[in-house]
Amino acid sequence: MVSYLISDLHLDGSRPDVTRAFCDFLRRRAAGAEALYILGDFFEVWIGDDDDAPLAARVATELRRFADTGAQVYLMHGNRDFLLGQAFAQRSGALLLQDPSPATLGGRRVLLMHGDSLCTRDRDYQAFRQQARDPDWQQALLAKPLEERRRIAAQIRTVSKTMNSRKAEDIMDVTPEEVEAAMRRYGVHTLIHGHTHRPGRHQLTLDGQAAERIVLGDWGELGWCIKADQKSLELIHWPTAR
Ligand code: MN
Repeated sequence: MVSYLISDLHLDGSRPDVTRAFCDFLRRRAAGAEALYILGDFFEVWIGDDDDAPLAARVATELRRFADTGAQVYLMHGNRDFLLGQAFAQRSGALLLQDPSPATLGGRRVLLMHGDSLCTRDRDYQAFRQQARDPDWQQALLAKPLEERRRIAAQIRTVSKTMNSRKAEDIMDVTPEEVEAAMRRYGVHTLIHGHTHRPGRHQLTLDGQAAERIVLGDWGELGWCIKADQKSLELIHWPTAR
């Protein structure tokens, strides 16, 4: 049996090519899979499950069709789509997945994360993250009319873009000590995450044992996934243009 992991598609109405590449992925590459793990930032922005934009409906329909073939779809929040809720998950035939979540994939125990919580050197982002994960803050936001939520989301995006352009590169990458702490906490030697848009496989030594951190890539001209079968994990990329 084969499972796939993806993250950081940043699906958006303004990037129809990526949406199409995702639909192709579900219908071809991932066809017949046992499970699909979506590790956050699936959407560029999510303002609530009641969003009436056509993108949400299209993606929910595609996911549901895929889930109906017998695949289990798991959805983890990212820093963009942390408001994805139970209603969208149900419509899509997906299960919401906690960040972090342990799993058995490729014949090993692994820890799945979005990755933003590992970037602890980015202090003002971590402050925002804490606020954004607060249920009361989320409720207050979700109670606002859709139009107002669209405006607030655009504002948050502008502020974060300006701040990020002033930050040193390494601040926005994972903190090595946090990676090790997360692996130790869950007793795993493999960590899979996205978020940083720096796809790759990093070998490390954890308490005298070989360990690995596998980073998924963001989708654009290339699509990225991890293919997990009984024995191995493979990081794969391909051009999305047809
Ligand atoms: Mn992210």
